[in-house]
Amino acid sequence: MGDSSTPAGDSAISGDLPQPCSQPLNVLSDEFYRARLSDAAKTRKADGIRALFPLEARSGLISLLAGKPNEETFPITSLQFTMRDPSSAEDIKLELTEGELHQGLQYTPTNGFEELREWVFGLQAFQHDRQKGEGWTVSIGAGSQDLIFKAASALLNPGDALFVEAPVYAGVLPVFHSLGCDMIEAETDAYGICSGSLRTVLENWPSTRPKPRALYTVPYGCNPTGMTATLERRLEVLELSREHDFIILEDDPYYNLYFGRSDRPPSYFTLDRSQPEVGRVVRFDSLSKIISSGIRIGFVSGPNVVVHAMDQHTMAVNLQPSSLSQAVTLKVLKSWGYEGFALHTSRIAQFYREKRDIFEAAMQRHLAGLAEWTKPEAGMFFWFKLLLDGDGDSESLIRTKALERGVLAIPGTVFLPSGRKSAYVRTSFSILPAEQVDEALRRLRDVILDAR
Ligand code: PMP
Repeated sequence: MGDSSTPAGDSAISGDLPQPCSQPLNVLSDEFYRARLSDAAKTRKADGIRALFPLEARSGLISLLAGKPNEETFPITSLQFTMRDPSSAEDIKLELTEGELHQGLQYTPTNGFEELREWVFGLQAFQHDRQKGEGWTVSIGAGSQDLIFKAASALLNPGDALFVEAPVYAGVLPVFHSLGCDMIEAETDAYGICSGSLRTVLENWPSTRPKPRALYTVPYGCNPTGMTATLERRLEVLELSREHDFIILEDDPYYNLYFGRSDRPPSYFTLDRSQPEVGRVVRFDSLSKIISSGIRIGFVSGPNVVVHAMDQHTMAVNLQPSSLSQAVTLKVLKSWGYEGFALHTSRIAQFYREKRDIFEAAMQRHLAGLAEWTKPEAGMFFWFKLLLDGDGDSESLIRTKALERGVLAIPGTVFLPSGRKSAYVRTSFSILPAEQVDEALRRLRDVILDAR
């Protein structure tokens, strides 16, 4: 992969990235996506000032364009920080150069720093075998949540149906609710979306009603179920997307937190490239679990028309992602090179694997016979079914009784668009030390035994 020796401050992140494949691809046309843009996306217009920003890079040009404040008036004059070095026990000291600091404190492009976007193109070539120039592009956002909202707004009109895997990441329910979409639950199990039942739903879809325009899924270490979709399921879902004309929203913040089988399934974004028509996937990545959740950097990789529509949304609502967050992120990424990134993420995956094992051992000690679960292979969640009598609803037990005993977890109903009853519970194993995991699950056992 990349060159780990790339010195901090170099202008580019170098590396031996895979070369573009010479085979012609049948990429879906811009017209295909234009026809699928939402009414809101079609009516958004580019900001007349920001649209001219790229011209400022022309050499010899004197720009009287933007109302940029003069950096000399800013009070911050240097920015240093210390970073863990994935390849040694020593920390590394980094300092933004004057140019980097100015860029970090100034207005910058709507879709993110050019250099950061180039880093993402390189990452997608390395991790997902997707080459720049094949009809897709990249934009940086304030975390992946920001981009998921903008993608949904670009593709969905009020009243449109879309599939969401169920259970689903609870953070997208307000997104689709606020856009007035009709969420159709796509059943899942330990292998991912149940493609057979999805096919049945689609084949029996009433002819009077437009079919779902998109499908939202978290394919690795799903939040909340912890499941990782198998290759077979992914391929079947992709095939359905082509047969029934929907776009896959692949939200993948746990891709780099994969600690399961060595033959991990490829992403939807990778698999899309070998389809008869390329371009059914909009992919969301996040640096929240890798660099910092507070720094708020995520990126989208998807068809040009869709990503440009999202950029116009950004112009209207927040102008751009934070320049300072991008400057710090880029400094870290350049210091690592792609090899350092790979080393760092494999360390994190190992860290969470150990946390998972500690949590599972405590589950075995305290909840064997009281709950059922599947061991997650990625991410940071255990999703388990309480073996309760009666209606099998975990809601009051978790929300009230567990809380009274001093343990906080999330009842399964929170992750279901319909809000129907669920016997499941989501617990996170990312933060707690072993003693607190043990104590939390011991308390949960007492609550379950009391309820029986
Ligand atoms: N998608 C999923 C599945 C998540 O779990 C989260 C964070 N909990 C997000 C998106 C939002 O991530 P970000 O911090 O990048 O906005």
